[in-house]
Amino acid sequence: MKIEKLFIDPAVLGMEETETIRRNLKLSGEVVEKESGIFEYLAAFPDPVLQGKKTLYITHNPGALIKECPGTSHYTCCDYTILHAGTFCTMDCSYCILQAYFNPPLLRYFVEHERIRQELENIARKDRIYRIGTGEFTDSLIWEPISDLPAFLVQQFAKQDRAVLELKTKTVNIDSLRHVDHNRKTIVSWSLNTPEVIRSEERGTASLPARLKAARKCVSWGYKVSFHFDPVVIEPGCEKAYTEVIDRIFEYIRPEDIVWISIGSFRFMPALKPMIEKRFPESKICYGEFIQGLDNKMRYFKPLRIRVYKAMADRIRSRSREIFVYFCMEDEKVWNETLGFFPEKEGELGHMLDKSAAEHCGLGTGN
Ligand code: SF4
Repeated sequence: MKIEKLFIDPAVLGMEETETIRRNLKLSGEVVEKESGIFEYLAAFPDPVLQGKKTLYITHNPGALIKECPGTSHYTCCDYTILHAGTFCTMDCSYCILQAYFNPPLLRYFVEHERIRQELENIARKDRIYRIGTGEFTDSLIWEPISDLPAFLVQQFAKQDRAVLELKTKTVNIDSLRHVDHNRKTIVSWSLNTPEVIRSEERGTASLPARLKAARKCVSWGYKVSFHFDPVVIEPGCEKAYTEVIDRIFEYIRPEDIVWISIGSFRFMPALKPMIEKRFPESKICYGEFIQGLDNKMRYFKPLRIRVYKAMADRIRSRSREIFVYFCMEDEKVWNETLGFFPEKEGELGHMLDKSAAEHCGLGTGN
């Protein structure tokens, strides 16, 4: 994490999390009363988005800490829950939707250990299973070198048996997870792609072998792992490239240590395209055979998606029929033609994932 400028909300000054970050960054930071001052600072740079990756604001989360993932009704949703622990990312993927989310985007660390503790106590009393991730508005492990957030979360989740934490990353920042008593309630998860896509579209991320080695280390520390192929980038030769990545996974990890694998292809709001063209002029990611989906996002033409997904699903199944494979935001035809079933009823996919989490992580059993 290379932070050039640190801003601090006066409301979090002196708090332990704030002081830990200041110490680790070796920056005292500038106290700002209003976020608008930071936006003015960023706007003065030629690429405010890039500067937002080097500018950290330590503050409280002004909104909900726990929220349901905003899937759309047109596609099958996995009923995921988001723990909103921070925003934005130090890495720089061409396709990253976060570039276009916040205005302009900025690294925010939310000082919320106490609220997280309370929320998890509430969840522990609920009569349902939760799959909770911190990787929706940020990468879960970019915070590891400067804060105790990942290790703190693992410790807190270990105390209950209703929820599993999924830490999703493209980094190899796992050292602080090593000696934590995780009680199997954390899944460490990597987004994977082909070496070519990582090289051309995922600036600043760890290489494929580095991600898989980190996953293997986590397994050796007793963690379960999961993998997400998202975004699958469809281009000539991609079926071979993606099935080779699947083969690589099993060189490092045994099937029984994998809780699930998800697959989703590149899709984007039309507003993201000019951003990619401006910030990544060498990227060709927006120039495939796309059509507008029911949620207004551009998606690859369906027969193309089905062909690649089928090759990937078949390769995973040739290695293990036990690993739960699912799609992120796909429809009935895609499910049926690639996996041979469709979780039709509302909540059905979520229940299937809950079952997999329960089996691997000992949820709801008092363990
Ligand atoms: S790693 Fe994830 S959050 Fe970070 S830039 Fe890439 S897509 Fe965005």
